[in-house]
Amino acid sequence: MRIALAGNPNSGKTTLFNELTGSAQHVGNWPGVTVEKKEGPLKHHKDVLVVDLPGIYSLSPYTLEEVIARDYIVKEKPDVIINIIDATNIERNLYLTTQILETNIPTIIALNMMDVVKKSGDEIDIEKISKRLNAPVVGISAAYGEGLPELLSKALKAEKKAVTDEKIFSEDVEAAIEKIINKLPDNLGEQRRYYAIKLFERDEKILEELNFSTDKELDELITSIEDKYDEDSDSLITNERYQYVGNILKGNVVRKAHISISTSDKIDKVVTNKWLALPIFFGIMWLIYYLSITTIGDMFIGYVEEAAAFVSAKATVLMEAGNVSEMLQSLVNDGVIGGIGAIFTFVPQMMILFFFLSLLEDSGYMARVAFIMDRIFRKFGLSGKSFIPMLIGTGCSVPAIMASRTVENVKDRDMTILLTPFVPCGAKMPVFGMFIVMLFPTMAWVGPSIYIIALAMIIVSGIILKRTKRFKGDPAPFVMELPTYKLPRLKGVIIHMWDKAKAFIIRAGTVIFISVIVIWFLQSFSPSLKYIGVENMDDSILAAFGNAVKFIFKPLGFGNSWATPAAAVTGMIAKEVVVATFASIGSVVPIEFSQVSAFSFMMFTVFAAPCIAAIGAMRAEFGNTKDTVFALVFQTGVAYIMAFLANTIGNLVFAGTDATKLQPLDYTIMEDASEAVDISGGGQIVLVIFGLIIAAVIINIIIDKVKHSGMKTAKKGV
Ligand code: GDP
Ligand code: MG
Repeated sequence: MRIALAGNPNSGKTTLFNELTGSAQHVGNWPGVTVEKKEGPLKHHKDVLVVDLPGIYSLSPYTLEEVIARDYIVKEKPDVIINIIDATNIERNLYLTTQILETNIPTIIALNMMDVVKKSGDEIDIEKISKRLNAPVVGISAAYGEGLPELLSKALKAEKKAVTDEKIFSEDVEAAIEKIINKLPDNLGEQRRYYAIKLFERDEKILEELNFSTDKELDELITSIEDKYDEDSDSLITNERYQYVGNILKGNVVRKAHISISTSDKIDKVVTNKWLALPIFFGIMWLIYYLSITTIGDMFIGYVEEAAAFVSAKATVLMEAGNVSEMLQSLVNDGVIGGIGAIFTFVPQMMILFFFLSLLEDSGYMARVAFIMDRIFRKFGLSGKSFIPMLIGTGCSVPAIMASRTVENVKDRDMTILLTPFVPCGAKMPVFGMFIVMLFPTMAWVGPSIYIIALAMIIVSGIILKRTKRFKGDPAPFVMELPTYKLPRLKGVIIHMWDKAKAFIIRAGTVIFISVIVIWFLQSFSPSLKYIGVENMDDSILAAFGNAVKFIFKPLGFGNSWATPAAAVTGMIAKEVVVATFASIGSVVPIEFSQVSAFSFMMFTVFAAPCIAAIGAMRAEFGNTKDTVFALVFQTGVAYIMAFLANTIGNLVFAGTDATKLQPLDYTIMEDASEAVDISGGGQIVLVIFGLIIAAVIINIIIDKVKHSGMKTAKKGV
């Protein structure tokens, strides 16, 4: 049995999905969070599959994610639909409901957010509405788990009723629909009314699908009604639907007179104010960076370093006792522990950053940022819609690139895919963290300035690209509802952080693990494949490669050592690997940066071709290799120019000051390893926390695997 969750964006579908299935999908207080359908078995009823669909406003799709939702409902026909409605916005939400009911799939209506309704003192007569709609309605509060047992029992018992083809439109329209139904082929069965209405609306996709594109009779029938009402058939249907919804709600929804403007509106007056909006946004970003990197995050760094050194020392003792060869010891210490340890150093900062970002998301502020950005983006030919994927990109470019599906216009969409990787993702955080901690310890503005420059470059690139034939044209209008502000729920924030930690640990155990081994190999062997040990890495394959290409980076200010080109290339695998590369090279060969050249390197990291996973996502969303290659060349070109500018201007402006003085990057982890057998309280806590998280992730993966194989066998059984 399949239960599909359908409803408007931001109505609480994913929250309900998580409650029903016990999974931890991303919930955010803004539309467009879910772009792909997610499936999972119902808790305690493993034979029931729950499907979380992307949000839709109607069954006439405009964007890709809406197509996904409609096709699932109409073509794959779930056994039951739970139509989730935001009860605080019931009029607009019921518009979709009328269409869902037309498909004649058994539907339960879940009036969500009843907690908010009750708080505001509004009253909704659920029973009467249910009677009028001729469908079961249950009041719930997904976030607090209220009303779910009743909802579930109704959903599990839902049965197909006789096809009644409830008439909801005016007589003329109903008569026309009736005539169209009679023209339809028999095999449409219970969905004939749905199809007839779509034909009446002249829905092009459906006209083609049913071979009615050239049907004269149909055209005349529709035109006669359009002439009579002096209105397009589709807007006629829209209007009559709203009238019907209005009639149903009349007398059944009592709104307490809200005389004073709501808190949300009050906050918005300030936050989206023409002059204050941007300063507030940057202020918030600065504060978040200040807290996550400079203050709280910095506190943790010492502890993590200590913990890594401790693990390394213990491993050395163990390996020496076991008579392990020098080469293998070097692999474990210099390669794996040194490399991954250096990245782990910055994980607490990453987690704190995500904690704050998800607070912003769940509160509803991020939706405002998209709205604010639309005002700016639009002037430069981009839409605020493009900013939503970019917000997701602050976490990871892969889901962000997928989120570009919320952009209707194909050109806007392709441009969004191309520009989204410019947003500094979580994996680039350790790179910035490393430089900020080592070279800019007292300058909290460096972090946010990277965001501001990235944003500016997105706009500039947009302007440039808009001038090319490929991307010409005005952006589609920006229509997005602003959700009301909500107090972020701890559960949502924790889910978000857990997701990030899990994703990172999985990467650390796979991609990053393999890359540090490869890097270790490249730096421990000579070009003639002789083991030379990391002490002699100046003669290694990696050094030979770096020396051969470092001239390319000379104009950017970081071509003096072979380590930087090497790190720039290894960063393609995963951006965190840049840190690992520096750490393992830097423990033997001093790597020197000035503040200016470090900033230049950060610029290069922000804009250069993203990691392999993101390139794959770009390829998938573009759907062709040509655009992907163009994007990569464009991105790397921008990276080069920006780094060049940063270095050149920096050296001019700060000539003679400390900012241009070369300083060695200070990697103490490896040097201290042999002595760090004693470990402080802070280091122990870090070890325990990481140990617990890693254990939890592993258990989680195992459970997932077991569940999955269980589901497959169940399917086979059927
Ligand atoms: P979706 O877009 O339909 O998947 O909606 P989400 O599940 O992502 O939820 C949107 C927002 O509504 C999130 O901020 C949720 O925390 C919040 N939310 C969901 N259900 C409820 C509820 O019953 N009561 C309240 N107060 N908030 C809720
Ligand atoms: Mg969702």
